[in-house]
Amino acid sequence: MDHFLYKNGVLHAEDVSIPEIAAAVGTPFYVYSTATLTRHYRLFEEALAGMDHLVCFAVKSNGNIAVLRTLGQLGAGMDVVSGGEYLRAKAAGVPGKRIVFSGVGKTPAEIRQALEGGIRQFNVESEPELLAISAIATELGVQAPIAIRVNPDVDAKTHEKIATGKSENKFGIPIAKARAVYAEAAGLPGIKVVGVDVHIGSQLTDLAPFEAAFLKVRELTLALREDGHDIIRLDLGGGLGIPYTRSNEAPPLPIEYGEVIRRTVGDLGCEIEIEPGRLISGNAGLLVSSLIYLKEGEGRDFLILDAAMNDLVRPSMYGAHHDIVPVAEPAPGTEQRPYDIVGPVCETGDTFAKGRAMPRLAPGDLVAFRSAGAYGAVMASEYNTRPLVPEVLVNGDQFAVIRARPSFDEILGRDTIPEWL
Ligand code: PLP
Repeated sequence: MDHFLYKNGVLHAEDVSIPEIAAAVGTPFYVYSTATLTRHYRLFEEALAGMDHLVCFAVKSNGNIAVLRTLGQLGAGMDVVSGGEYLRAKAAGVPGKRIVFSGVGKTPAEIRQALEGGIRQFNVESEPELLAISAIATELGVQAPIAIRVNPDVDAKTHEKIATGKSENKFGIPIAKARAVYAEAAGLPGIKVVGVDVHIGSQLTDLAPFEAAFLKVRELTLALREDGHDIIRLDLGGGLGIPYTRSNEAPPLPIEYGEVIRRTVGDLGCEIEIEPGRLISGNAGLLVSSLIYLKEGEGRDFLILDAAMNDLVRPSMYGAHHDIVPVAEPAPGTEQRPYDIVGPVCETGDTFAKGRAMPRLAPGDLVAFRSAGAYGAVMASEYNTRPLVPEVLVNGDQFAVIRARPSFDEILGRDTIPEWL
């Protein structure tokens, strides 16, 4: 459930009408709903109730500092994958003791930054990284809390580009090798082993792969305890999928996912961490765009929008589906026809949808892409020198621009001409 509904024939974000925001900021823009972010965060809180836990929002899905502050004020931790994301989490007011640092290629500078600024734990993905963390921590005279991300070789049954838990993927340490790497970790001066970490992929619509992975983590935890390691935390990653269409999709609910956690590892006495991104932010955001031209082609009609693949890359990158709806609610019985919905970028890949049924629109009419709050603005680029799309946060009947559209002066001003020119 989200808070983007038609009221009096006009799409609203909570109590604010989308045309009102469009008039204030221009199109395209992203808009997020505080009530939806809050609701989704609380679903995970409820799902893990009774277990010691921390819900660490995956900043990679939506890193706007106002979004992070909204969640941080509810008590969320943060899962970051770069020094930049770490700074965003801190700028949002989230303390280091609630920030976990994931990612396969943490640089020495990022490791140092996190150790100096405070970090709950590093999720370590390789032996060289373990050695680097130990060396930097020793230099700083501290011990770095770590969990080792294990690769359980489980098929997440999701899009190949976002599956991470198979042995051929670059992520984590093969689970069969984990005991040896934990033994090595325990002997390193700058390392304090605190847990086990796993993340098998994103947009999972079936609980079975989670269950298989968590059972392997359980088995490993028991073995590691036998080896003398004090495993006090299990980080079970993110990945729970969301419905991208209103019609037929019904991915598992957070409460059902919580049951899997309870059943598989709930009795181990560990603090449970999870790292959901998409389920919290995905359906809490829209991308709003307006029609530039309706172009009638040969056998195909095109809706050419002012949003493009650089603003929302998921359709061209993953073949992802987004529901696209007119902001003015069509009257019942309005005729719909198939359109290819495209952006202005000079690539055929700049296609959001093919043959999508839509009512006839006129230039200037607004449309909204649903489910655009995760992996939307964060993956945007300035390809074709198109300014990054502004972001707006709604809270009840208020809204605020939480990232302004850059001016062309700002964009061009970032380039510099070498002396010899
Ligand atoms: N944690 C890690 C390590 C990830 O790589 C990702 C996404 O790929 C997430 C959490 C968040 O996944 P999702 O947004 O599907 O919940």
